[in-house]
This record gives sequence, C-alpha cells and structure tokens, in this order.
Amino acid sequence: MNTALLNADKTFTLESKDAQPLEEGQVRLDVAWCGICGTDLHIYRGHMDKRLNFPEVIGHEASATVAEVGPGVTEYAVGDAVVVRPLDACGECPACERGFGHVCNNLNFIGIDSSGAFQQSWNVPAKLLHRLPEGMNLELAAFVEPLAVACHDVRMAGLKADEFSVVLGGGPIGLLIAMAARAVGARVAISELSESRLELAQKLGFDTINAGSDDVEAAVIEKSGADGADVVFEVSGAAPPIRQMTKLARVRGRVVVVAIVPEPTPVDLFQVFWKELQIIGTRVYEPEDYDRAIELLASGEVDPSTLVTGRFGLSQIGEAFQSLDTDSQHMKILVNCQD
Ligand SMILES: [Zn+2]
Ligand SMILES: [Zn+2]
Repeated sequence: MNTALLNADKTFTLESKDAQPLEEGQVRLDVAWCGICGTDLHIYRGHMDKRLNFPEVIGHEASATVAEVGPGVTEYAVGDAVVVRPLDACGECPACERGFGHVCNNLNFIGIDSSGAFQQSWNVPAKLLHRLPEGMNLELAAFVEPLAVACHDVRMAGLKADEFSVVLGGGPIGLLIAMAARAVGARVAISELSESRLELAQKLGFDTINAGSDDVEAAVIEKSGADGADVVFEVSGAAPPIRQMTKLARVRGRVVVVAIVPEPTPVDLFQVFWKELQIIGTRVYEPEDYDRAIELLASGEVDPSTLVTGRFGLSQIGEAFQSLDTDSQHMKILVNCQD
C-alpha cells in the first residue's frame, strides 16, 4: 500500500499504485514527510467538496528526495533533497502576466485541485521544486510550506526590526508568523483564547494576551509602548478579533488579513479612515518566501519542532486525521510517507 486516497466520507482507501511514467519536465519523488494542514482538515470535514475530485490524494506540505528525473529536467539529480511549492500557475492569465502566479486565476493547487503528497511516490513538475541544503532534516523540512506562508505575511506587512506586531490567533500559522516576525527582529505578542495555545506560545518565548480575560486593546497599547501595534496580523478568522483588529493598529499602521474568511464580516472602517491604516491581503507564498523559509529552518533561526503533536505512518493516515479532527490540543501532525 503506497497511496492514500481520501473519500468524501472521512475515510481513506490505501492502495498500491504503479508508478506513472514521467512527462516532460517532471521528476518522481520519494515523499519523506508531509504535514497535515488546516486546509486538509477542511477538505476532510467536507467543506471543500465542490473543489475536490474524490477519491483524491491530498497533502501539500511535503519534503522529499528525487527518485527519478524525467525528460528535459537538467537542474535536479537523483538523491537531491527537495520541497515542493504546490502552486502550478497557468502562466497566461492576467494575474500571471502581472507576475503574481501564486494567485493565478486558473491556479492548480497541487494536493487540492490535483493529486498531492500522501503517497510514497509522487510525480511533480521540476519547476515547483526548491532544493534543500545538504544534511537538512526532512522532518523539519515539512514545515517549509507553512513557514513560507508566515514569511510571505511578514514580508507583505513590511515588518521591520524593532517594530511591534500583534498576532491574533495562536494556532500553527499564528505561531509561525510570530517566529518569522521575531526572526526579522520585531517584537511580537500573541492574542489567543485557548489556554493550551497560550501556554505553548509562552513556552516558545512569546509575550501573550489572553483574549478571553484581558482587555486586548489596552494590552496592545501598553505593550506597544506607543499608540498601538505597527502591524496587526489577523489569523483567527473569528468575528470579534476582526471587528477589533483596526482598533489595535497605530496611526498609519498595517493590518494584515491572513485568515480565510468566506463570509462578509464587519470591520471597523472608521479606524482605517481616522488613523490612515493600510489593510493588506495575503495568500499563500511566492518563490522567495520558500527560499526564506528554507533559510530560517536550516540555520535554526526558526525551530518549529515543538509544534509537532503527532507522527503517523502513511498506513495510519485515517487515525492521523481522526485525531486532528477530534482533539483540539493538536498543533501539527506529520505523516511519514515511506512508512
Ligand atoms: Zn498548508
Ligand atoms: Zn495564471
């Protein structure tokens, strides 16, 4: 059994699939580790049924080793350690023509719109690979994709050393944003409701605000040492922080929308007018964010190993998803795709 197919009813079918012949520009990967993303959980729970083609192989947070090189591929060789940036852009739409292939109008998000990484052997376009430094831990490298999200958010915010930022929501992405913010030398506080997530944030050395019992606005003003945060990252997607986020920013501050908020949700736009705020949307990552994430992990500047709350073999993938689905204490579960 080398392939895990997700069905529409929260079950996986494990199959033995023969390797598919490589097309022009493709490589075959031996997938090492693949993290389970919040998006994967959404898919599992049936929130994205319209976009999925069940049964489907999902998974997009993979580290891997090149096992075979297809026709026309010259820049990679068998044995290279790599990660996959799972955004296959069309190259022709207005977004692509403007140079923003990561938000391509016809984006093929590999692992959602086409077959992903929860399989032992995976064919992908070589143009989407990023090489890992010699000797880099492949388990840690499964964090490149989510950390690249965080690096993109911090870069889009223009966050600088000594600026003060507040992260609303202390889940995996919130914590990775806090780590990426700290890596540029910014000060960070994390606002979160869950006691266990607050504890983890503190264990990682972050200043925290208990959104359930503290006055978040007063705490942000106080911690900023001025008139509010230089940058507010909204990662929770919940209505109360979204209503409050513009109040937390200083004059001419930036508010970065990270969470996916599918329904129109009230925002205090008077604050945007009054303080001349910028609201910045962010979605996935660009190639340079992948390079930055690899650099941060390889150098040890960012160490997300504390976020790992479970490791499962590919043959136990059903248990892995069930555990993430039912236990809110989980942060990041990693799947060993060779096991
Ligand atoms: Zn992801
Ligand atoms: Zn495009």
